[in-house]
Amino acid sequence: MADVFTPEKRSEVMSRIRGRDTKPELALRSMLHRLGYRFTVNGPRNRSLPGRPDLVLPKYQTVVFVHGCFWHGHAHCKNFRLPASRTEWWKAKIEGNQQRDRRNEATLRSIGWHVVTIWECALNSAAARDWLTARLPALLGRPLESFPDELSRVAEDATPYGK
Ligand SMILES: [Zn+2]
Repeated sequence: MADVFTPEKRSEVMSRIRGRDTKPELALRSMLHRLGYRFTVNGPRNRSLPGRPDLVLPKYQTVVFVHGCFWHGHAHCKNFRLPASRTEWWKAKIEGNQQRDRRNEATLRSIGWHVVTIWECALNSAAARDWLTARLPALLGRPLESFPDELSRVAEDATPYGK
């Protein structure tokens, strides 16, 4: 089925949905702040790096993405279920987002950035935030070369509720 929006309108709608200052993002910022990390949210690198990272931590050469579980298709997450209508369209849309995420991550890594992706559901409850707070220093503080890739998908495991 055709999209109800023109491509221009669609990307405007998407960019609004993708907007900054969402609740999970604010939660992450205050966690990082309490832990003493310095980061930018609207600096030149937030705007120009691939995928426009939500947070940039220059000291750690690290970028952080906060991914909405629906829009980025968080596998096995209770917050991600394809809508019952126009299912194929949504599936294509979300797979497109995932492909773009992977491309952006690969590009960022190739130019020396450490990429951390935090799923929205890892920021949604106090228990989940405590879990993540305890692990953030390990996630962000390691030197680039010793950082295992699989750890950067922290929220795969950072969902103590809903299981
Ligand atoms: Zn999720």
